[in-house]
Order: sequence, then C-alpha cells, then structure tokens
Amino acid sequence: AERGAGSVRATATHCPYCSLQCGMAVTAGDRPATLVPLDFPTNRGGLCSKGWSSVELLDHPERLLRPLVRATPGDRTSPLVESTWDDALGRVIEAIGRTQRTYGRDAVGCFGGGSLTNEQAYQFGKFARVALRTSAIDYNGRFCMSSAAGAANRAFGLDRGMPFPLSDIAGADVVVLVGSNPADTMPPAMQWFDAGRERGAQHVVVDPRRTATARHAELHLQPLPGTDLALANGLLHLAIAEGLVDEAYVAERTTGFDDVRAGVAAYWPDRVERLTGVPVEQQRRTLLTLARAEKAIILTARGAEQHRSGTDTAQAWINLALALGLPGRPGSGWGTVTGQGNGQGGREHGQKADQLPGYRSLADPAARAHVAAVWGVDPDDLPMPGRSAFELLDALGTEGGVRTLLVLASNVAVSAPDARRVISRLRDLDFLVVSDFFLSETAELADVVLPSAMWAEEAGTMTNLEGRVIRRRRALDPPAGVPDDLQLLATLAERLGAGALFSGDPETVFGELGRASSGGTADYAGISYARIDDEDGVFWPCPSPEHPGTPRLFTERFATPDGRARFLRVEHVEAHEPPDGEYPYVLTTGRVLAQYQSGTQTRRSRSLSLIAPTPRAELHPDLARRLGIAQDDVVELATRRGRARFHAQVTDAIRPDVVFAPFHWGGGSSANALTDPALDPTSKMPAFKVCAVAVTRVGGP
Ligand code: SF4
Repeated sequence: AERGAGSVRATATHCPYCSLQCGMAVTAGDRPATLVPLDFPTNRGGLCSKGWSSVELLDHPERLLRPLVRATPGDRTSPLVESTWDDALGRVIEAIGRTQRTYGRDAVGCFGGGSLTNEQAYQFGKFARVALRTSAIDYNGRFCMSSAAGAANRAFGLDRGMPFPLSDIAGADVVVLVGSNPADTMPPAMQWFDAGRERGAQHVVVDPRRTATARHAELHLQPLPGTDLALANGLLHLAIAEGLVDEAYVAERTTGFDDVRAGVAAYWPDRVERLTGVPVEQQRRTLLTLARAEKAIILTARGAEQHRSGTDTAQAWINLALALGLPGRPGSGWGTVTGQGNGQGGREHGQKADQLPGYRSLADPAARAHVAAVWGVDPDDLPMPGRSAFELLDALGTEGGVRTLLVLASNVAVSAPDARRVISRLRDLDFLVVSDFFLSETAELADVVLPSAMWAEEAGTMTNLEGRVIRRRRALDPPAGVPDDLQLLATLAERLGAGALFSGDPETVFGELGRASSGGTADYAGISYARIDDEDGVFWPCPSPEHPGTPRLFTERFATPDGRARFLRVEHVEAHEPPDGEYPYVLTTGRVLAQYQSGTQTRRSRSLSLIAPTPRAELHPDLARRLGIAQDDVVELATRRGRARFHAQVTDAIRPDVVFAPFHWGGGSSANALTDPALDPTSKMPAFKVCAVAVTRVGGP
C-alpha cells in the first residue's frame, strides 16, 4: 500500500469522488500532496479531471481547521466564530440533552452521506440508535440510489448496484444505458465500453439529451423524461410479439411473468411512440439488437430512477432483462450505475431510516436481536424505522419533527429537492450541527460547524459500484486537531456516556461491522483489511475468511426465498407535474463533467472552475428562437417552487420540449430550488428528473 520511488513515498488509495473509486497514489507525508493514477481494476491508470484535481483541496485556504460557533449562542444571525473543540462539543451535547428532555429522543436527528466510509456509515447508524436512541436518521443516498435499490431488492432479493464486475461491460455484445452518462460522470469507465466497441459491440443510449455517451453510441433514443417505464414495457411487448422471450429461463428461474405479459399487452409500439416520442422503428431496432445478442447488459442510472415512479421504472427494465434471460448469465445482466463514492456501502450498514447493518430490516425481530447482540444492547431498546430523507427534512422544527440535527458529509441546502423549502426548515431547527471540510451552504446555517479530515487523511473502506470492498488509506496527517468523522462520533458518544461502545479505530470498527453484517445479504464477515490489500478488493457477499468473495451474483439462484427472480407488473404513470400553460416545458436536472454533487468541494477547485465556472441551462435552438434567447444569455427558470438563473447553452443535443439544468450550484443558480419533492411510494425518491418549468430571458451574456 505504501510504495517508495527514490525519495518519494506514496500511499495507494482512491479518488474521493464517484463510485468508480479510481485507484491513485498520493505522496505520503508531505504537503502540498501530489498524486499519480494507479492501475486499479476499475480505472486501469485512468483518472478524470475531478480525480486529478482532488489533492488541490487538501490545502485549500477555505478549509475549515477549527470549530465554528455562533458568537451569540442561539442567535443564528450572529456570525460564526472560531472556538475550541471543548466549547463546540459542549454546545452540541447540551443541545442534544435539552432537545431530548423537552421533546423526546426522536427530536434529535442524524443525516448522513454516501461519501462516508463503510466504517463511518456503520458507526453513524449505531450512534443514532444506541447513543441517541433516536429513530430519526437517513442519508443523501435516498436521493441517489434508493429506487434502483428498491427494485433490485424486490426482484432479486438483494441490491448490489452491479451484480457483476465492471469488466463484463467489455465482453458484452450489447449494452443498453438508460439515463446514464458515464462519459461525463466517470470517464475512465468508458475504456470498458470502448474495448467492447473494438470487438464490434453495439451500445444503445436512452437519454433525452445527446450526451457525450450518446454521441458514441450506435443508437440513441431520446424519450421524454419520465417515460422510460413505458419504453421498457414497449420493448417487452415487442419481445413477446416477436417470440424472443427466453421461455426456458423464465420457466426455470423466475416467477410472475404471466401477469407482466398481460400488463405489457397494452404497450403497442405506436402507443409507446406517442407516450415517449421514440419512433417505432427505433424501438424495434433496440429490441432486436438486444434480444439477438449472446451477451447483453442493461444499465439504468439516475435519469431513469429519480422519478416518482423510479422503483417501478427500474423494475420495468429488470422485467425486460429477465424476459431475455440476462440476469445471472455470465457476461450479461441488469445493473445500476451507482453515483456517490460510497453510494453502495453507504446504503448497506445502517444509516438508512429502515435498515440495520448487513442490509437487514430494522423492523425484523431476528435482525434486531442479531445486531443488538453485536452492539451489546437490549434489542427492545433499538428504535423502530423513522422518516425517509425528504420527509425527515420537511418535518424539521415541526411538532413531532426533529429539533436538533447532526449532519455529516451532506449539503442538503443544495442537494435536496425544493431546496429553498429545506433551507427554511433548517432555519426552523432549534440547533443544527454540521461536520464538513468547507463551509457548505448547509454549514452556513449551523449553530456549530465541526471541521473534518479529508479523504487522504483518513482510513477506512469503501464499496465501489461493483460491490468491491476497497481500502481508503491514510497518506497524510490531518491538520492538527482535526478528526475524521469516525473519531468525532466516538468522542460524541463518550460525552453522551456511551463511549465504551464506540471505537474511533477504523479496523476495529470494520471487524465489528463484519460481525454485524454476518448472515445478512451484504455479508462482510470474511473480509479483512489484509485481504483487501492482497486481492485488490473483495466482492461481497463474503461470509467467511475462506470464502473467495462474489464478483458475479445470481449465477445459480437469486437471493429470494425460492431462489427465483420476481417479475412484477408495472404501469406507466404521467409525471407528477406535467407541463401546462403556465409552465410549458419539462425541466430535467443532472451533472456536468467538472463538478461533483453539491459542489462543496469541486466548486472550490481552481482547475475545475476553469472548466465549468458557471452553471449553464441547456435548451434547443427552436425553443431559444421562440423565446428570443441567444447563446450565453442569462435565463430565468421558474417552477411552482422557485426561480433560478443560468447562462443559456443553446444546443440541438436536447429535445425541443426539455430544459436541462445542472444541480451542482446553490444560491441564485440552485437547480434544486426548482425541483419537485413528490416522492416515489416505495423508495421515497424525489422526482428530481421531471417538473414543469417556464423559461424567460432576463439579460445578455
Ligand atoms: Fe475516477 Fe470518479 Fe474520481 Fe473521476 S471522479 S477520477 S471517474 S473516481
């Protein structure tokens, strides 16, 4: 893990950003740090501009190095001023005690993130349930992966983003990408697609924008946002009509197909064309390309999943994959492209409102007993499931809602839907504590801000988009006195009288996490730091030290009680907020290459800011002409929730009835000030990808 090259010593670790978790070596010990890419199995020496720039931020002048508190306690109009750790933590502990004495335990809440290490995510869930004994905990992955996770759990009995190694993409004859744009979000992953293309593989991209990924595809379908479910049902209708269903696979490995067969009968190609805008000819070509391939992979991502019907949309594509006999066939399958760095591990270890480590249900008595035994507490003392992320945020400061909130690794003032409403709720809190590296938009609202160690200064494990558990290794000491979030939780637990149950040592916590996960679907019991070092990561489930890990799932059976995958009939529903006379266009939101998530880090990078300095709203030349908008003009987007301004990017790469806005910025350019918080009933995913919008020109460049 630590390599010497002459006098330069470097520590092997991984990029702090997306779920590809590219391998890199960071110069050990010295500041400013430098990095070189590593030949890790996911990136094979590649890095994107975000990864290359990541070391810039370690010594950024805006880095938080000391706790901040309000000059006048309780008055959030007074300035944030530097304080001591003792004072800051004293205020936090006092607020927790006061709130719980006055309003009960659930009035103190926790909000986590998909960038926390596995150990931190595990410890945060345990901290909420054991040290605070509150049911109020959820995390920002609810806004990211929850729909795909819900569908995978329903269909396969287990959710692992990609149930096969990333390298399978290179061997597939056909890959269909639905609402996924890896060429911009994780460019080094494109080498696997390119390797497939060199062998003659066909790639189909389903996206309302002709993205960098779509431009390389053999076929690009441009459906209206929010109609991917209808498209998948239409393709399955065609598969049945053409006799292309793998009947033997369906009979041996699945249940529920007859109901789905009856359901998709109504998805005639011409009806699907009317619903989606995808011509019948393109539907047929896609289906025939997919069904005739020996090895085929269908990948969905946020474009398909961040809808009020996101879980059902992912299920529709799973139904198609099952009908064609793909899941579990080596080199084939359905998967989802995870977003955040530890989006996978972040949802496995208990920081979700309804889950315990090992992906166990918090409502299941056997799961409660198992985890309580590992934690050394009475299972009856564990709270029951609480509110999901947006529901938790929307109830802040209200009767029965959270009054004191602890936020780790999350910037909800930018990343939550209807963000200005969330900011208003944050202001309604009695007390807000935020741990972060920088003064994020959420931290600006806090009573106490706690500085946190950054990725290259902390140790732990992450689980990448393939389910491979990898090590984040410490290359540098953090600035004096700055803890990582694992140490912070141990310190807070000690001050709450539960210190004996909380270690600040990552390897100790990982061992405990393994025991807590043992027997669950995400079983880490056989994984150790030493094995990760020796094997370039270990794929879960890995129930014992002798077990080789599981790169490819479902080859023999699915994780359901009867071992069969479940078809489920799902129906297209109109978007919660379709365009109308007042708001005549569809707004969809997404990412750009040189920014990451809420931008707390990447907006502070000098090199990335040169590439993507300002947020740009994309609109089609026909729409721009109609509205009198020219390239670079300032436009105002207005929805029922608010307004935000962007520079116009006039491009024929987008449908004429759709406007795209990136969500990495806050303030007056906050795309999420516009988005619709209508929730998917299963996953509680907000409808980030569709709402009705009006567009006006407000000024020149
Ligand atoms: Fe790799 Fe993602 Fe980091 Fe880019 S952001 S270097 S793709 S891990």
